[in-house]
Amino acid sequence: MDLARPEQREHPLKAATTDQWRLLDVQALDTRLAQIAHRRRTLPEHAELTALDQRAATLRDELVGAQTLASDATRELAKAEADVELVRTRARRDQARLDSGQGGHKELESLQHEVATLARRQGALEDVELEVMERLEALTAEVDRLTAERDGLQAQVDEVTRRRDQAVTALDDEALALDRQRVGMIAGLDAPLLALYEKIRATGITAAAMLRQRRCEGCRIELNPQDLQRIRAAADDDVVRCDECGCILVRTGESGL
Ligand SMILES: [Zn+2]
Repeated sequence: MDLARPEQREHPLKAATTDQWRLLDVQALDTRLAQIAHRRRTLPEHAELTALDQRAATLRDELVGAQTLASDATRELAKAEADVELVRTRARRDQARLDSGQGGHKELESLQHEVATLARRQGALEDVELEVMERLEALTAEVDRLTAERDGLQAQVDEVTRRRDQAVTALDDEALALDRQRVGMIAGLDAPLLALYEKIRATGITAAAMLRQRRCEGCRIELNPQDLQRIRAAADDDVVRCDECGCILVRTGESGL
């Protein structure tokens, strides 16, 4: 914070006290503008949306996973159903031949044996079919649940986005009104004084503050006796700076000098 301070000692900037006082109004407005910008950056909706986005991304992955498993299970079920149907057809054909009673004893015995084997095979395949069916049912329910959650989440995102946009618009409108007010406020203000103010403000600190009861209202530090002495000795239209924070110190009747 050594902005122009050495030069200040050699060629102190001079500006009418009324202009110095007006600087306090400009600073109050700039402080309000900085608060608005800060609020705009730190709206709770930003964090809410980030959290919702993260949840949505996880949900998307979960849904894709469940849909893949469900479609695998659907294919598996079709295969299991075809397997059962194949065995059933074969058993029906064998049974029909048995029922016709045609063929030799040996042939009929072999057919009976095959029918029994096919019945066991069909039972086992039907168990598989049932297992796949149950799994598919559970997966379908999971896909439905995740889809509903995704839709609910999207509704939440829409609602928070609407709130954020509303807040941003309100803050932007407020800032715009202040910007317009500022144009009128700085019109006709001592140019070198304003330039110094802007130069200090660009560093991100309070650029102009009142000296109140020997304390700089920019950094809240009480001035030491030497600085106070220096300021007392300065002419009214001398622009004085705080040695601690570098802001323009504006003297008023409450400065305690
Ligand atoms: Zn200060």
